[in-house]
Amino acid sequence: MNTQEHHLNAVIRKDEHVLSMLARHHMLSGYRTYRTAMKGISTDLSRQYPSAVDRPIYRDIYTSVSSEESYIDFLKAHTLFNVYESFMPKQMNNLQGETILYPNSYSRFNTSHEWRFCLSCMAESDQTGEMPYFQLAHQLPTVSVCHKHQERLYSSCTSCYIKGKNIDRIGCPAGTTCRFCKEKLSPLNTYLDDDMHWLHQTLLRLLSGEAKIPAFNKLLAAYQNALGIRKYSNGFTVAERTHLESLQFELDNHFDPRLYHTIFNNSDKSNSGKLTPSLSLYKAAYHDKTFFSPVVHLLIIRMLFGDIDSIPSIN
Ligand SMILES: [Zn+2]
Ligand SMILES: [Zn+2]
Repeated sequence: MNTQEHHLNAVIRKDEHVLSMLARHHMLSGYRTYRTAMKGISTDLSRQYPSAVDRPIYRDIYTSVSSEESYIDFLKAHTLFNVYESFMPKQMNNLQGETILYPNSYSRFNTSHEWRFCLSCMAESDQTGEMPYFQLAHQLPTVSVCHKHQERLYSSCTSCYIKGKNIDRIGCPAGTTCRFCKEKLSPLNTYLDDDMHWLHQTLLRLLSGEAKIPAFNKLLAAYQNALGIRKYSNGFTVAERTHLESLQFELDNHFDPRLYHTIFNNSDKSNSGKLTPSLSLYKAAYHDKTFFSPVVHLLIIRMLFGDIDSIPSIN
C-alpha cells in the first residue's frame, strides 16, 4: 500500500474557487479516482459544493499551498467568504476550518450546489493555454449570468447531475456536451429582472470587497428601526405581532413571483404559514445568533432600504 503523501499538482488561479483546483489536481495526478488523488491531502471529500463557508478541506488546501497570507485572507480570495462575512454573527467569525459550515437552510436555494461556468471565459482560458476552471464570481448564490460577458452560465447536466454535483464527478468545465451521458447542455435559463440584476451586482460588489455592509449588530438594529419594533425582551405584543405579519406579507409579495421561484426551491409551499418559509423577516431581524444566507438579507435590504449604500447607520 502506498502511504506516501500526495502533493497538489495544480496551482490555484487568481479568481478561482478553491475546490475547483482539485479537479485539475486529480486529472494531472494520473490517479484513476479522485479519492486516491486526494490521499494525504484531505479526508473532507463529501458534498463538494461551492457554497460552504468553511470546512476542513479549505484548511487542508490552505496548509498545502500555504504562503504568507492568513487563513481568512485565503478564504476571502478563493471562497465566497467576503460575501458571507457581513452577515455572520460575531461569534462565528473566527473560522479555523474545523467544521463544515453553511448558511442556515442553504439547501433551500436553487443554485447553492451548482458549479457554473461561462463558455466565453472557457474560450479565453483555452487561448492562453490554461485548463478551464470554475471562477469564484460564477459560484455566487443565484448568479446565472457571466459578469464579464453578460452571457448565460452553464451548469451540470440536468439529465444525470442528480448522481453527483460534487467537483470530483464534474471535473473541469467541459463545454456544452455532458461528458457522462453525451446530452447537449443548455445554459441556465433563470428569471432576470431589475431586482435580480441588483442582487447579482451587489453580491459581486461584496465579493470584490468594494462594498461594505454595516457590522452585523448594526444591520439588525437598522432592520428593527425600520420595522418600528426595537429588540424585544418579553415577546411581542399582539399589535406588534400583527404589524410584523403584515410586513412579512409585504416581503413575500414585494418582488415578482418568478424571482422567489428562481431563488428558492420552497416557495409557495401550501402547508406553511409564509409563502417562502426560508425568507423570514422576523428571524433575520431578531435572531442575532443565526447565520442566514446573504440572499435573504439582501432581499430584505432591497425592500427596506433600496440598496446596501442606503442602510441607515445606527449608533
Ligand atoms: Zn464569461
Ligand atoms: Zn449527463
